[in-house]
Amino acid sequence: MHDMSNRVALITGAASGIGLATAEALARAGAAVALLSRPEDDLDQAAKRCQDHHDRVLTVGVDVGDPAAVRAAVERVERELGPVDAVHNNAGISIVAPLTETTDELFERQLRTNLAGNFYVLRETARVMQPRRRGAIVNTASELALIGQAGYVGYTATKGAILAMTRSAAAELASWGIRVNAICPGTTRTPMFLREFDGAADPAAELADNEASVALGRIGDPKEIASAVVFLLSDEAGYITGTHLVADGGRTGCVPAGSIGTAAN
Ligand code: NAD
Repeated sequence: MHDMSNRVALITGAASGIGLATAEALARAGAAVALLSRPEDDLDQAAKRCQDHHDRVLTVGVDVGDPAAVRAAVERVERELGPVDAVHNNAGISIVAPLTETTDELFERQLRTNLAGNFYVLRETARVMQPRRRGAIVNTASELALIGQAGYVGYTATKGAILAMTRSAAAELASWGIRVNAICPGTTRTPMFLREFDGAADPAAELADNEASVALGRIGDPKEIASAVVFLLSDEAGYITGTHLVADGGRTGCVPAGSIGTAAN
């Protein structure tokens, strides 16, 4: 396990799914953790799970799409837990709809949370890290930053932009001793995933199709994404910046499994 003791970690979208799994993994690795999520989210149950591993856990209800609220939240975390030096910039939503049925309102809501929200958290945490010349940030993108899928035009636009933003932020912040990377999860069993599959015409068939396109033959567990994020935030990843780590069971890197014959040409 990576040693994150004496570190202060800030995680957004920490009330459930991948963010909660990362918060728990960071607390288990020794970090004090600040759990940020929408004000209406159940942050108390998330905090209890982290308190099993660490006694310094702070919860802050915040909409990442509100820049003033994000700035105030980061200031509060610094005041109450100390200097933040690890950030999982993870809050996100997925709106699934055919392109021609994606209204302006739906598209803008997607942009506001996933892209503007990611930018505000990136900017405000970089701002407090710069004077200390130390820190690591991981932005959550998606395998859908790398491949297209019907129904996800707006979502993929935000996730592709997060990868581009990650590279430029890494270039700019390297001289300040701050590393910036992205994680690209594949399909992962979280409340977001469950909502999407529940909305499918035939959820069981949808799941079977989905799993058949993954080299490892199954969807991911949030803990498997969290462990990759903890690695990127740890000192063991000290020479890694401006890139992304794909944790998708091989979906984007491998063709679906087929039978192996023999041939010699
Ligand atoms: P989730 O819905 O379980 O968790 C997302 C959390 O973010 C929730 O607690 C939600 O309330 C919070 N959130 C949403 N909007 C917010 C806002 N405006 N301000 C603050 N908090 C907000 O989803 P998840 O699957 O854990 O997703 C986490 C991240 O991983 C997202 O960025 C998502 O796009 C990405 N992702 C998920 C999958 C997957 O299959 N689950 C795959 C690739 C990428």
